[in-house]
This record gives sequence, C-alpha cells and structure tokens, in this order.
Amino acid sequence: MEFIDTHCHLYDGALGRRAQAALAGARAAGITDVVVPAHDLASWAAVRRFGVQAGVHIALGLHPWSAHEPFEAARLRDELQTSRAVAVGEIGLDSRIDGADLPRQSRLLAAQLEIAVELGLPVILHCRGAFEELIAALRNHGYGRRAAPGGVVHAFSRGPELAERFIELGLHLGFGGAVTRPQSRARRAAVTTPAGRLLLETDAPAIGLTGVQPQDVEPRHVRDVALALAALRGETVERVAEVTTANARTLFRI
Ligand SMILES: [Zn+2]
Repeated sequence: MEFIDTHCHLYDGALGRRAQAALAGARAAGITDVVVPAHDLASWAAVRRFGVQAGVHIALGLHPWSAHEPFEAARLRDELQTSRAVAVGEIGLDSRIDGADLPRQSRLLAAQLEIAVELGLPVILHCRGAFEELIAALRNHGYGRRAAPGGVVHAFSRGPELAERFIELGLHLGFGGAVTRPQSRARRAAVTTPAGRLLLETDAPAIGLTGVQPQDVEPRHVRDVALALAALRGETVERVAEVTTANARTLFRI
C-alpha cells in the first residue's frame, strides 16, 4: 500500500529538527510522497530546501495568520516558478484569530488565487469561521464554472452540507487527525465525500490524532488517518490508499 501526506509542515519546530528521520519513517510505512506547504514569508526558504528531496513536493503562499506581512505578488509568482512548487499554499481566511482583519485577509487571498489561476496551480486552503467569504472568493476566480486548477480545503472538519458546496466548486477535501476522534463532525463528511475528492493529510505538527499528541505527529501517521477513514466508509484500507494516492497524484501532478 502507498499513501501520500498532502499537508505536513516538515520544517516546523521540533519536527523540523527530526525531519530526515520523520521522512525515513514515513517511507518505511509506505508514505511515498509528502506535500509541504509554507505559512509565513520566513518559511518559504525552509520549505524550498525540502523541495529538492525525492518524494517531497512544496507549496508556497501566505497564510491568513500572516496577512500582516508584506506580500508581493511578483515575488510569489517568481518563487513558485523557480522552485517548481506544486501548489499555492497555504492560503485562506480565518476569523477566529485575535485581531483578525478579514478585509486584509480577503485581499491577500484574492491576490494569491489570481496567481494560482494564472499559473494553473492548485490551491491549499485553510479556513475557519469564514466559509461563505471563501466560497465567494473562489467563485469570483472562476472555481466551479470553468476549468480552474482546483485545490484542497485542508483539515476539513465540518459537515456534509458544506463539503458538498466545495465539491461543487471542483475542490478536494483533506481529512486528517479529526476523523480519528469519535466526536468530530468531520466523520460525517468523510463518509459522504465522493472517493474521487478525498485526500489524506496529517498537518503535522499542528493537529493530533486519537492517542498521538500534535507535536508527535509525523507523516507516517497518515496511515492511521487512512485506517479511520476506511472504517468509517466501510471500505478496505487498500481501497482508501489507492484512491487517495491517485487523487493526490492527479491534483498536484506528482
Ligand atoms: Zn497547515
């Protein structure tokens, strides 16, 4: 069985210091590929250093938590092209942080969606508490109407109704540690999402799994996410591995 972790901040904190061991552990567990998205401007260089490794693919972008940083569209366009990034990310909207400036986040998101569409790159989206605004921004940029390059709503933890709206816009949904938790709303969406739109992720080291603290999560744990997803959907883990790996390869062209 082969798995792909479509969202892991391999450079971050203590995980960054044991990244090579984590990658070796991932390969031993059948995780063939990892997608590493950036978050702030300072992370771009760290992310790019991972991009030279076999099986590691990168995304560059400015996260809504870093919307106060000086964003330059020309620099993002240039770095995406010279680094052979597979996606723009992670980008999005988050109304749940202290001092959230949604108008500023929305301008930043729009500028990055424009570049993604222009370069034909998928987007890696983060969203909390601003789903209507995110959907409106995606529609404004042609998602759901023409052959937009697609993307993923990562760490999806909402219900089936919202999932359906992103699916209609041509997006994939990334499921991670939340589906291993009995109380999570994400479990219902994980069952109703069509197989062709499912992706696996860990979001290491940000989100824990049942029995694994966030700081201990590594790409190899994507296998546990696959097991949880298989149990919920009444499918074999082999089938979940096969379909999510194929989806990731198609979306990110890896
Ligand atoms: Zn992330």
